[in-house]
Amino acid sequence: MSENKQTLWNPMVHPGDPNARNHIQIVKGDGNYVQNREGNWLVDGVGGLWNVNAGHNRSEIKDAIKAQLDELEYFQIFDGISHPRVLELSDMIIEMTKPEGMAKVMFSSGGSDAVETALKVARQYWKAIGQSQRYKYISLKQGYHGVHFGGASVNGNTVFRTNYEPMLPGCVHIDTPWLYRNPWNCENPEELGHLCAKQLEAEILFQGPDTVAAFIAEPIQGAGGVIVPPANYWPLIRAVCDKYGVLLIADEVVTGFGRSGNMFGVRGWGVAADIQCFAKGINSGYIPLGATVINERVAQGIENCQSFTGALMHGYTYSGHPVACAAAIANLKIVQDEDLPANAAVQGQDMLTKLTNALSDFPSVGELRGMGLMLAIDLVTDKTTREPIDPMSGFANKIAAVAMREGVIVRPVGTKIILSPPLTIGTEEVDKIVYALQKGFSEID
Ligand code: PLP
Repeated sequence: MSENKQTLWNPMVHPGDPNARNHIQIVKGDGNYVQNREGNWLVDGVGGLWNVNAGHNRSEIKDAIKAQLDELEYFQIFDGISHPRVLELSDMIIEMTKPEGMAKVMFSSGGSDAVETALKVARQYWKAIGQSQRYKYISLKQGYHGVHFGGASVNGNTVFRTNYEPMLPGCVHIDTPWLYRNPWNCENPEELGHLCAKQLEAEILFQGPDTVAAFIAEPIQGAGGVIVPPANYWPLIRAVCDKYGVLLIADEVVTGFGRSGNMFGVRGWGVAADIQCFAKGINSGYIPLGATVINERVAQGIENCQSFTGALMHGYTYSGHPVACAAAIANLKIVQDEDLPANAAVQGQDMLTKLTNALSDFPSVGELRGMGLMLAIDLVTDKTTREPIDPMSGFANKIAAVAMREGVIVRPVGTKIILSPPLTIGTEEVDKIVYALQKGFSEID
């Protein structure tokens, strides 16, 4: 077997960078821990990639996968065909999203697929109701919506776009509701919520309300650095969208099914989107799966269109893969039976408090923030000016290396360290994560 980089190109690194990490190999997982090839068991502080929500090696999910393989390993769901698992899972998701008024599910193979489906369905809705001039998307700076051309076009961080431009036309980006860094230097959450909602309204008016198809955002920005909006943000955004008829797409690929401390991110603010995108936590990553969930308004608009414009000319060979659906059914039972959203809220708050106590005084620690089991440490060169640390300095990687030596995997991302452990963690793992990071900062900072 070759080493990393000999035959494998890893995502999200420069394959020619001699300093890029290439030595870590994970060989086993169990519960909240994974084992590296050196034989050390490490706390999985990243939950795989924000997705192993029910923890590793869950017999309930593995048994469901094995049983499904024996029953039916694969069949398509194109052209009106189905199988029991895809029907059971779509019923289950619609039941779980009842408070949000969701009506229909379209399956895919992951988060980027789920976003692509949402963007296309939003455009199709407007065409189906006779407003094909509504094609533009508004999204947030720093937002992350995957890597397909649609998702990358609405991504708010240029690093995901520049190497692949030109992107989709008609995508505009507005400011993120981030208290720590925003263009207004506003530190009042209530006021920031209003400023951001006003900016959305101004952008809709500038573009022309009858040209805007949808506003898409993550309920809590994940990859952009775990940015938790002010309490009034989502209700105000919903109101602006309603005023101009703009569809609201909640990209819940990370926040869906408990990670934010609520079953769904938008539920935490009492808001319902028109379309929600799911992946990751839907089946804890045991098999790739994505889902896009559509409310009655959008579903009716398309279903009632009697012309070809209502035809769903979108879908994937692996839409509703029976094994992925079986894994999701077993996983979502665990999420509900063990009330993992509640555990995420409790453990996340405990970890944030403990990290704040342990790390706040280190010179490079700017902001510690998060909600549920999505947390970030923002690294700065100057606490007063909040100037971010040089992402090329390798500082975050060095902290992560010490943490790993101390038995914990964390995720260094340029100017931040991100934490997103399984939703099954307890005090023991929280304390190990806090200790490993404290050790990292005391040695490096
Ligand atoms: N949307 C959000 C909010 C994400 O965080 C991600 C991945 O991290 C995606 C979409 C893309 O998902 P995937 O990597 O499964 O394609």
